Amino acid sequence: MEKIYDVVIIGGGPGGYTSALYCARAGLSTMVLEKLSAGGQMALTSQIDNYPGFEEGIDGFSLAEKMEQGAERFGAETELAEVLSVDFSNDIKIVESSEGTFKAKTVIIATGAVPRELGVPGEKELVGRGVGYCATCDGMFYRNKTVMVVGGGNTAAADAMTLSRICEKVILVHRRDSLRATKVYHKQLEETENIEFYWNTTVSEFLYEKKLTGAKLHNVKTGEDTEISVDGAFISIGRKPASELFEGILDMDEAGYIVADESTRTNIPGVFAIGDVRTKALRQVVTAVADGATASHYIEEYLAHQI
Ligand SMILES: Cc1cc2nc3c(=O)[nH]c(=O)nc-3n(C[C@H](O)[C@H](O)[C@H](O)COP(=O)(O)OP(=O)(O)OC[C@H]3O[C@@H](n4cnc5c(N)ncnc54)[C@H](O)[C@@H]3O)c2cc1C
Repeated sequence: MEKIYDVVIIGGGPGGYTSALYCARAGLSTMVLEKLSAGGQMALTSQIDNYPGFEEGIDGFSLAEKMEQGAERFGAETELAEVLSVDFSNDIKIVESSEGTFKAKTVIIATGAVPRELGVPGEKELVGRGVGYCATCDGMFYRNKTVMVVGGGNTAAADAMTLSRICEKVILVHRRDSLRATKVYHKQLEETENIEFYWNTTVSEFLYEKKLTGAKLHNVKTGEDTEISVDGAFISIGRKPASELFEGILDMDEAGYIVADESTRTNIPGVFAIGDVRTKALRQVVTAVADGATASHYIEEYLAHQI
């Protein structure tokens, strides 16, 4: 007979693996479906200083491994599978994935967030060939080269600082005339000699032959168009919830976050949303893991009433 899990968790980031730990430890049969590798966005970070318990900080990849192993110690399973569609219309939820169909009494959505795209010509074609979304991960490929960073928030500022230590030159392109980033970054950036600023400027197109060669820029104040040569471009304009699969099924806010309060319950009984994908004030590792624990509490309650 086909197995029906107590819980299927979609996404193996910190939220997903914490809920897996709590659910498995509570004796529930638990399956984590992860399309890439454990850790989600957390695994992209070379240093996490604000997750308690690590007095020297810890790199995100190691923390991810620990979280996965901690959940598996109690019997949680992981399948490397991309979830492609879901059917939440009956008591037994159906999750279709690249590796087959999974059935469960409850589902936790822990799909997190993904980088926002600029949406300009050349961007999609050049991902992995000059255009990237994670300076911490890919900056090393541009040692002693010229790169651009697009954006003006904290991520763009941090990315520009990181790249300035690796690359020969960093061009920061921002559509406004000042940064949105926290004040602490402003002075650091201005005092870094190899960072050049293009204010009031947007990217209209990425230029390439086999790989990225440059970008067409547009000054929104003067209307002037220019072309610059760069070896790499990092898009640092924020993140969006990975919630497309659930459009039309679950309630979402206008930005696409799944509506769920501190209980992590969604509008469908037995379906829970945790971590960066749900409506909340602060999206961090520590809040994602807190959601993971909370979801398991309400899942136990839900399952007890189903019997
Ligand atoms: C560069 C960077 C630095 C950061 N630094 C810090 C920091 O220092 N401290 C801190 O507290 N927070 C930091 N954060 C934020 C933190 O990483 C996130 O808040 C946290 O990872 C959210 O956890 P999550 O479990 O909700 O989702 P995520 O970590 O986004 O994990 C979601 C997982 O779901 C998987 N997934 C998505 N869709 C599917 C699908 N259809 N099928 C199967 N799997 C799927 C993804 O592959 C991913 O592994 C940082 C984030 C970034 C991007």
